[in-house]
Amino acid sequence: MNEIKEMTQTEKVFDMLSKNTFVCGVSFQQEYIPTYAQRISELNAKNSDYIITGQKCSMPNHSHKGNVFMYSMVRKEVGSDQISFF
Ligand SMILES: [Zn+2]
Repeated sequence: MNEIKEMTQTEKVFDMLSKNTFVCGVSFQQEYIPTYAQRISELNAKNSDYIITGQKCSMPNHSHKGNVFMYSMVRKEVGSDQISFF
């Protein structure tokens, strides 16, 4: 049986970020997620294990007229923000 689970837009954003090193904002728009920036802030607020950051798109063959960001998701290192004196 082929069961296709329909993802929410937030899940779709997470899925795309987990499968690609960088995801351009235009790619989210092509997946019909015009509010991707808001979905990304929701994911950042919800996930403590991952952090999604954006930077100006520099992907090959992308020549955007305006400022378009590409996003990457990295796993937070456990304890990276803790200072140990031992
Ligand atoms: Zn781009």
